[in-house]
Amino acid sequence: MTYDPNNVFARILRGEIPCKKVHENEHVLAFHDINPQAPVHVLVIPKGAYASMDDFTANAPPAEQAAVMKAMGDVARLTGVAATGYRVISNCGGDGHQDVPHLHFHVLGGRPLGRMLGKAG
Ligand code: 5GP
Repeated sequence: MTYDPNNVFARILRGEIPCKKVHENEHVLAFHDINPQAPVHVLVIPKGAYASMDDFTANAPPAEQAAVMKAMGDVARLTGVAATGYRVISNCGGDGHQDVPHLHFHVLGGRPLGRMLGKAG
């Protein structure tokens, strides 16, 4: 998957589209998903231009990789789901059903989430 600099998350990072921010630092932005699938549904994205997990882990500096991992735990605490349980998902590429070609992690919680995978489709 190639990086499209006009994808919606790149535009949020440039301030061209608003978002409901949960957390931000030098490397990471976290904001509420516009179409939440659970009471808590926050997207965690690196500020760098990485299309997916394989791109990020091959090319991002270690400090940026560590910051994204830490941010997911920070978001779980900030939103309260660390106490009740949550799920982190990153959809990558075609079979992963990735819609936005800027690496992102969904942090979902606030209700029982069921088993990990539904039926394909
Ligand atoms: P994917 O299917 O790529 O894993 O997830 C993309 C996510 O981005 C979806 O959950 C979708 O609701 C969310 N999304 C798409 N456009 C916007 C937007 O403009 N703002 C926010 N906050 N979320 C968005």
